[in-house]
Amino acid sequence: MGDWSDYFEDFPEENPANWVNGQFDPGLAARLREQSSHNNEAQAKANAELNEMIAKAKQETKARSLLLVEDCPQCGLKELNTYKISEKFYLCECQECGIFGNGTTHEKALERTKEALGEGLDWREGSLY
Ligand SMILES: [Zn+2]
Repeated sequence: MGDWSDYFEDFPEENPANWVNGQFDPGLAARLREQSSHNNEAQAKANAELNEMIAKAKQETKARSLLLVEDCPQCGLKELNTYKISEKFYLCECQECGIFGNGTTHEKALERTKEALGEGLDWREGSLY
């Protein structure tokens, strides 16, 4: 054991791992650590499955709700998809350059997309839907 663990044995309140939400509570901290190591693996698996399901459902919704494809204001290619996700949720996403924007109507979504010109947006790195 190194110097630090000896030191923390003598001064447990100096060990940040013994604090929970600003309270010195080594017992609770140890229980939480144990719980989280048990849960992490199952939780990570559940999260991955859930994310996959959500991604798939969203893809299906997008495929279903594609309203039109038009010229992208940023890259100029006819790759700007507009989806009507719901009555008041229109979403433009360029399949080429990644720019996007949303609005309560197609016009507003397109306007928002144009306002985002040059901002380096990419819906694939964090979609609005
Ligand atoms: Zn584009």
